[in-house]
Amino acid sequence: MDWSTSGFIREFFGLGKAFGFVTIGKGRMYWYAAAKAPEGQADAAVGRKRELQELFQDWYTCIPELITATDEANILKTDLYDRVPVRPWGQHNVTLLGDAAHPTLPTLGQGACMALEDALVITKCLLANSDPIAAFQQYESQRFARTKAIVEQSLRSGRMGQLENRVAVRLREVLMKLMKRVIHNSFKSLHAYRA
Ligand SMILES: Cc1cc2nc3c(=O)[nH]c(=O)nc-3n(C[C@H](O)[C@H](O)[C@H](O)COP(=O)(O)OP(=O)(O)OC[C@H]3O[C@@H](n4cnc5c(N)ncnc54)[C@H](O)[C@@H]3O)c2cc1C
Repeated sequence: MDWSTSGFIREFFGLGKAFGFVTIGKGRMYWYAAAKAPEGQADAAVGRKRELQELFQDWYTCIPELITATDEANILKTDLYDRVPVRPWGQHNVTLLGDAAHPTLPTLGQGACMALEDALVITKCLLANSDPIAAFQQYESQRFARTKAIVEQSLRSGRMGQLENRVAVRLREVLMKLMKRVIHNSFKSLHAYRA
């Protein structure tokens, strides 16, 4: 593959674990790993990198290689939380956008995209309305359905990635193969949105 191009994505699912990587152009890339763990769990005594090397040692060869090639200091760790979509986002002349309005699991990689979309829509609404309260109401009503759908889809995708039961995992593999085109089309329509 050509590492200089951007947007090449691969995601791998296992039993309660997942790993993915994305090229971001100019020969650079980032990777991510997810595993079920108790909230706020401290790093293992061996350190983050060694812990990940052990967790993914028998995965597709490029995965342990990528972990080994990464500086320990560049490995960030964060707990992930989900929350069902709620309204309202604002009151009077104050409103929220981005994660503050609709926190989202990163499983579809859409959180920052939605924050940018929000910023564009709120700008358009403020330009079209002299009253900021009306502008914020218009912004929220334009954005709620899309952000709700993505938050819920991210949650479903997160649940799929967390499966630990072997039968359920096998079923997931079969379903993903059967639904390849449906999944591809749903990403296409997600990315086709124009704010
Ligand atoms: C592991 C992971 C992977 C992700 N991958 C993707 C991806 O591939 N694609 C994608 O689109 N999204 C991704 N996201 C989601 C994305 O990072 C967030 O949705 C995005 O950063 C939200 O932007 P925001 O501006 O709403 O909030 P934030 O980025 O959280 O910005 C809020 C800022 O406000 C600051 N702040 C907080 N309180 C105060 C205060 N009292 N005073 C002043 N400043 C304050 C914070 O320090 C922060 O800098 C990922 C998230 C995670 C955790």
